[in-house]
Amino acid sequence: MINRHTTFFVKDLKPIEFCGKPVMWQMDINGAFEKPFETQPTEGEHDFTTCEGCQKTLKELIKRLTEKFEGSHKDGAKPFPFCCTHHSELTKLKEFNRADFISVPEMVARKIIYTNSHIKNNHQSETYYKDITDYIDYTVESFGQMPGNAEPLYLSDYFFYITDLLERNTEVEKGRKNRLLEFLKAYRTPTETPKTDFNILLGTYQKWLKVFPFEISFFSTLKPHFEKQLPILNGKPETNKYTGLAKVKMHTKGSLIDVLLNLTNNLLTQINTTTLYEKGLLTEPQKIKLELVLNERKMKLKQGYVNSSKDEEQRYRKILKEWFADEKKFIDEVTPIVKALPPQPINSEIDTEKYTAKHYLLAYLFECNAKGVSYPIGNKKELERIGNERMGAGKGNRFYKVFNEVINKDLNAEKNLFEIGGEYWRKAVIELSKAPELVENYLQSKQL
Ligand SMILES: [Zn+2]
Ligand SMILES: [Zn+2]
Repeated sequence: MINRHTTFFVKDLKPIEFCGKPVMWQMDINGAFEKPFETQPTEGEHDFTTCEGCQKTLKELIKRLTEKFEGSHKDGAKPFPFCCTHHSELTKLKEFNRADFISVPEMVARKIIYTNSHIKNNHQSETYYKDITDYIDYTVESFGQMPGNAEPLYLSDYFFYITDLLERNTEVEKGRKNRLLEFLKAYRTPTETPKTDFNILLGTYQKWLKVFPFEISFFSTLKPHFEKQLPILNGKPETNKYTGLAKVKMHTKGSLIDVLLNLTNNLLTQINTTTLYEKGLLTEPQKIKLELVLNERKMKLKQGYVNSSKDEEQRYRKILKEWFADEKKFIDEVTPIVKALPPQPINSEIDTEKYTAKHYLLAYLFECNAKGVSYPIGNKKELERIGNERMGAGKGNRFYKVFNEVINKDLNAEKNLFEIGGEYWRKAVIELSKAPELVENYLQSKQL
């Protein structure tokens, strides 16, 4: 392992909290002092030792950085450590010796070439992100540390050239290039304001929680699980291939969005109506269809309506037009589903008191049909007895009269049943029947 010697100047240790619980500790150190060290190049198809371009760039970089170090560059800056106020402070440090830094310009130039070469050789790998960011992490650590959080010597030059070379590299696939550039950018604008980064991640995750359709019944049980999570850490602690140190990387906004896209895809592909159907869990397809249509509409409404026409008036008009079209489409989709659903809870307000003799009669008739028993047609006494028994004493005669009114009607025609028992005839029949299950099956068999 790399032999390192670091002197820390710790000021404070502060927890970073989420919902009152510390999720990580932030060390507030007034910097540390560690001398830079050499890094090892990696091997691959592209060999910088034989590549003319790399060798030319290496020479140019050594020239520029050496001029900077010696203060002989035409910008007139003084030699290190008097190049800036931060580095000037080093002279007060007993551990500091300028001779330890003499090789830094060449070292940094090589680190730039090594990293560029490493990117060229690894950007097509499946594990490109870890391979490359691990190597960059390793290289960044090799720059050592300066007290007072001053910049390790020429670290910003390293980032400047690496970024520039990567931006100009046309071989790297666009998405991968952006992900790597984002990683570099996060490094260059470091953790002075960790809270801001944290809030961006938190906001990104909360947006996802809001947008994901947890209201759909088969997703609803997952919501508490995801509400409790805060996936701001990019995976489990991983050992850097090059430094041997285990570290957890914080997500960048982009990498968190990648994770959420993946998660969304996994949830949608693993839990859906097809899988429910296959497992025999799709018991209420109409209800789920309704949920899907409602949630689709809700999502669009949450997302809102925007239009970027040049003419302002046209913008309003276009927005309204889109809204009207969506609403019409929504109504068209939702109406047949609602119609097909079993009676809505509103019906439960109708209690038995509101049932008439006709409802009692229908219940009786369907019960007979379901049992395969014939009606006592013309038998006034028997019908009155049944009426008294079912509706209460003294109501038998009314039952008998209604029987005679209804008996010639075709009870297999829904239209007739509507006329006799109104909108809720079916519910009444089931509720007033003495064998509701049997009747329910019978009605279903008749497609009623
Ligand atoms: Zn090259
Ligand atoms: Zn300086």
